[in-house]
Amino acid sequence: MKMIRWTYIVFISFFILACSTDTTEQGSTADPQASQQNFNWKMVTTWPANFPVFQEGAERFADMVNEMSNGRLSIQVYAGGELVPALQSFDAVSQGTIEMGHGAAYYWSGKVPAAQFLAAVPFGMTAKGVETWIYHGGGLELWRELYAPFNLVPIPMGNTGVQAGGWFNKKINSVEDLGGLRMRIPGLGGNVLKKAGGNPVLMSGSEIYTALERGVLDATEWVGPYHDLRLGLNRAANYYYFPGWHEPGTELELIVNSNAWAQLPDDLKAIVNNAAQATSLWMYTNMEFNNAEALKQLKTMQNVEILEFPPEVLAQLKTIAEQVMEEEAATDPEFKRVYKHYKAFKENYVNWTSISDESYQNALK
Ligand code: CA
Repeated sequence: MKMIRWTYIVFISFFILACSTDTTEQGSTADPQASQQNFNWKMVTTWPANFPVFQEGAERFADMVNEMSNGRLSIQVYAGGELVPALQSFDAVSQGTIEMGHGAAYYWSGKVPAAQFLAAVPFGMTAKGVETWIYHGGGLELWRELYAPFNLVPIPMGNTGVQAGGWFNKKINSVEDLGGLRMRIPGLGGNVLKKAGGNPVLMSGSEIYTALERGVLDATEWVGPYHDLRLGLNRAANYYYFPGWHEPGTELELIVNSNAWAQLPDDLKAIVNNAAQATSLWMYTNMEFNNAEALKQLKTMQNVEILEFPPEVLAQLKTIAEQVMEEEAATDPEFKRVYKHYKAFKENYVNWTSISDESYQNALK
């Protein structure tokens, strides 16, 4: 009888141990001693100080982690340029001088071209589809593979929603109107504009108002009504176009140095993961709320004309976007692998959304 009881206890203990082993995250099960340890981390972001929603969200995330862990994981957040230049945050976290970063994967397209699928794809999926792919469709596993050589663990945190198409100093009635157009538009969207005859310009957010106002730029995209209004772009150009075909649902990321991550006990890892998910929802819904409010304000402005790109312009840009993706895929096997995965997921997912979301949206018209 005693023997059976001991066997039972051993079996149950083994079962509990097996269940508590973290199978979803990288790194081994942490030392129980570590649960007593305090961690003081730094986070660097790609955003300007006080940047609404994104920097704000990163700071909220740090507060949440501090509160949930009862101060065991304290994260000090620094805006772009405060500790390291915004676009060097990937390197700083990769090298381990900083434990954590927040930004968007397309900033690292020079190092990891395929990372763009984890941020923005012209004529790609919106927030709902992108996050479904990441959380359930294998996107996160691919993302981890892409970042592993850089000693980084990616964790999704935030989405911008559908961005605006941008501010133009003239009307766009055909693709020919994009010819010679000097437009601030980064990433794959910029490549599409170039192939359509335009001149994509790379420029940081702080420079674009002046450049547009002085005519150095003919057009610019930024984020959406909320951020664009705060930057004053409504005073620099008259035509505000939709939709943001180049950034239909830009996903944002938390990056963690993998050595730092491996040192965290499992409960703190769970806190980081869950706080990131909660922050994702907060950021996305905050964008939706504030964009709707800002659009209402923009509609009252005499000088601002809110327009949609003509369907044939969008159709042609979509064809060009497909060519751009194929060309990129032909030069980079990793890009090709992620592109194929993303595309297969999207094709299947669209079958579902066309009969769910789309048919319902049509019923509302
Ligand atoms: Ca943008």
